[in-house]
Amino acid sequence: MGHGGRSGGPPRFLADAMLAGLGRWLRAAGYDTVIAPGHHSDRAILRRAVAEGRLLLTRDRKLLEHREAPGRVILLACSGTEACARQLTARLGLDWLHAPFTRCLVCNTPVEPAPEAVRAAVPPEVRVAGWPVRWCPRCRRPYWPGSHVRRMRARLERLAAGRKPVYQID
Ligand SMILES: [Zn+2]
Repeated sequence: MGHGGRSGGPPRFLADAMLAGLGRWLRAAGYDTVIAPGHHSDRAILRRAVAEGRLLLTRDRKLLEHREAPGRVILLACSGTEACARQLTARLGLDWLHAPFTRCLVCNTPVEPAPEAVRAAVPPEVRVAGWPVRWCPRCRRPYWPGSHVRRMRARLERLAAGRKPVYQID
């Protein structure tokens, strides 16, 4: 039993470019999520999903026609990130509080405690509050639990509260 043919571990995702907003929310919840560049062909996107053991999230029905689609492609019929998130939750029983804010929202890399030089450069009110500062070692973006993160966390909690029973796609 597993998502996308993998056994154990949280599901990993590949969101097509149309679902980039949903992809960023999955990252915020801590899921390993690649967002496909808009110019990639269906075949290239599907090949990557198979190669990396990811579930392919799309609104493009054509992707279901491929041989590799069963158990791999999740077709969402939704408009707006929140509606897509709820639909995906209904399909997979996702836990939106899986590992909040453990990945870079921009590039998907796991964040780490920020080095001293980065901590020293954050706004003074963050330093004064003593908030833990993390950063993305790849794109060097700092993250701390400020008001933006609190709003995002509230949204993750709302999504988590609407969680439905698990439905395995394969
Ligand atoms: Zn990054």
